[in-house]
Amino acid sequence: MTDGAPLARYTSLKVGGPPDRWAAPASEEALRRTLREAADREEPVRALGGGRNLLVDDLGVAGTVVTTSRLRAVAIDGALVTAQAGSPLPGLVHRTAAAGLAGLEVLAGIPGTVGGAVRMNAGGHQGEIGDRVVLVRGFRRDGEPFALDREGCGFRYRGSDLEGSFVTEVTLRLEPSGADLGARVKELIAWKAAAQPLHAATAGCTFKNPPGGRSAGLLLDLAGLKGFARGGARFSPRHANFIENSGGATFADVFSLIEEGQRRVWSESGVRLELEVEVWRRAPEAARAVA
Ligand SMILES: Cc1cc2nc3c(=O)[nH]c(=O)nc-3n(C[C@H](O)[C@H](O)[C@H](O)COP(=O)(O)OP(=O)(O)OC[C@H]3O[C@@H](n4cnc5c(N)ncnc54)[C@H](O)[C@@H]3O)c2cc1C
Repeated sequence: MTDGAPLARYTSLKVGGPPDRWAAPASEEALRRTLREAADREEPVRALGGGRNLLVDDLGVAGTVVTTSRLRAVAIDGALVTAQAGSPLPGLVHRTAAAGLAGLEVLAGIPGTVGGAVRMNAGGHQGEIGDRVVLVRGFRRDGEPFALDREGCGFRYRGSDLEGSFVTEVTLRLEPSGADLGARVKELIAWKAAAQPLHAATAGCTFKNPPGGRSAGLLLDLAGLKGFARGGARFSPRHANFIENSGGATFADVFSLIEEGQRRVWSESGVRLELEVEVWRRAPEAARAVA
């Protein structure tokens, strides 16, 4: 375990200071030890996957951040795919499509890791990763092991009951298929690239789509926020539900855009937007106020 480097280096939004401690376990046993030590010190501990859905405080975070980047083994056994939490999701999507296994091609274009995807129940119009889950293994915050079937994970729209747990390994059931899955993957990536700022520094969609049919992006657009900027951050001119770091954005720049978006959409449309992006702060109470 070491002192952490700024988390801006590990997040796609490129914002965030260092954690007090940083751990990069190379095995499940090492991860378990890290969790036990943090529990003994009564310190917070957080899992970091690809950092593709995170806004981190410029002051960094208290306690230990554990990266899953060294846990990335994948095994394919017929239609069952078992991947460690740190396996990059895009690689798994390509690999399973090439192996003629259908199910993950609907996740094409979603960055991050398998662990982060399961925790967030990542997905889109075509489906979510939770649809494919057979078993999720991992540790509770105090290092106690768990194994949950799909039901036990509590998957819902961009969420699950895995918050606060450490996923180490996920088993997915796919379907053998004769379709051209590689072409489907390419098509979905092209569709996303045409509509979203995939090459800008963002954390993906800032807000969840509210019930009622109108997307968060449309509501932000109607509130006049496309391209609206504060400091180094702006609502993407291409898709208003993405906040871009257009150069030197601070946590405060991004956070004030989040609050502005919620305020304006509430006053224009009477809709309360909920965050999809996870906010990591030294003072967690402030994050809860907007969650
Ligand atoms: C350009 C772009 C496009 C995107 N498009 C989509 C999309 O279409 N659909 C979609 O759903 N998302 C999308 N996202 C958001 C993001 O890709 C997903 O939320 C992704 O699943 C996050 O995975 P991650 O590994 O980066 O998680 P992180 O950002 O590292 O973490 C996210 C949360 O998961 C937790 N976590 C991470 N790893 C673990 C683990 N092993 N065990 C337990 N908890 C863990 C973290 O503690 C945190 O709470 C997009 C993001 C970007 C930047």
